[in-house]
Amino acid sequence: MRKELLKAVKRVVIKIGSRVLTDADGTLDMTVIGRICEEIAFLRQQGLEVIVVSSGAIAAGRSELGLMEKPRTIPHKQAAAAVGQTRLMLAYERSLAPNNLKVAQVLLTSEDLGSRQRFLNARATLDALLGFGIIPIINENDTVVVDEIKFGDNDNLSALVTNVAEAHLLLILTDIEGFYSADPHTHPEATLIPLIKGITRDVERAAGGSGSTVGTGGMATKVAAAKKAGKNGVATIMVSGKRSGIIAAALQGEDVGTLFLPSDTGMNRRKHWIAYTLRPSGRIFVDEGARSALLKKGKSLLPSGVVRVEGRFERGACVRLCGLDDVEFARGLSDYSSSESALLVGCKSAEIERILGYHYGDVIIHRDNLVLL
Ligand code: GLU
Repeated sequence: MRKELLKAVKRVVIKIGSRVLTDADGTLDMTVIGRICEEIAFLRQQGLEVIVVSSGAIAAGRSELGLMEKPRTIPHKQAAAAVGQTRLMLAYERSLAPNNLKVAQVLLTSEDLGSRQRFLNARATLDALLGFGIIPIINENDTVVVDEIKFGDNDNLSALVTNVAEAHLLLILTDIEGFYSADPHTHPEATLIPLIKGITRDVERAAGGSGSTVGTGGMATKVAAAKKAGKNGVATIMVSGKRSGIIAAALQGEDVGTLFLPSDTGMNRRKHWIAYTLRPSGRIFVDEGARSALLKKGKSLLPSGVVRVEGRFERGACVRLCGLDDVEFARGLSDYSSSESALLVGCKSAEIERILGYHYGDVIIHRDNLVLL
């Protein structure tokens, strides 16, 4: 089955974690980077397009700045990232050069991807780079982001990049062999699970997500990334980046690591962007009639179904839609701001103009801008 699935893969995003790229004392491990680059060159020879999402800037900068410990303050982390990013790029550039491959640095922030225009610009740039046969190396633009607006981690960034780049596969290189039934560091009896057909609550729990306090070495963020990519119709394979030959083995459909199958054939890419890249800035509560019209009949949200508006948002912002039970069931782009929507609660569409003095349309959220979760 893996072989079948991988035949259709032409464009792959490879996420490489800091722990793969650095050695025990935290400096860039040029042997590992050299090997990974050899393997990337092999994929290129097979005609695959490769995009790398690489961590390691902060780690590389730390040793360059002579910091004994991991930087703690935000300015120190950002300084380390600024210094380390050039070292990281140099490492990739030198290691890919013997195979005549060139690199491009692409630094992104979640605000960049939150703007549809910049998102599409990033897509066009990646397309152009791949057209030139270049390997784009993506990282978060750590020097300008603060915690509140970060992607959070590069697992998340790599999942979003599968949508930006319209890739067919996400390959996560990490420091353990794949996804285990329990944390293998504390549960020696834990077994590697080669195939996850759907990311259920149980899978999330085993990963140390909701309902559990045991993290399994960043497993929760990897499972979350696989879930996000899966909503886009993209499969994820998680393998140990420390193992030689692993990239080719994974791409040739060998039974290595863990394969996470996508949840469905993939939602429309713009809808995926609305649901997973945008940060919702408020909540609109709707009555049961509206909820079932949206969920079962594919309707737009009319002001008559709105019972309450929470938070502040502008027209065009992404908002959460919640039922009377407070549970979020959809997200969408609101045609009216929070203050306008609050004035329109429960009214008929024909009354919008009288109430506001103007009218952007009959709906609060059009179904084309709405994603059911
Ligand atoms: N952007 C960070 C770095 O390059 C890594 C973030 C992560 O690994 O999740 O050091």
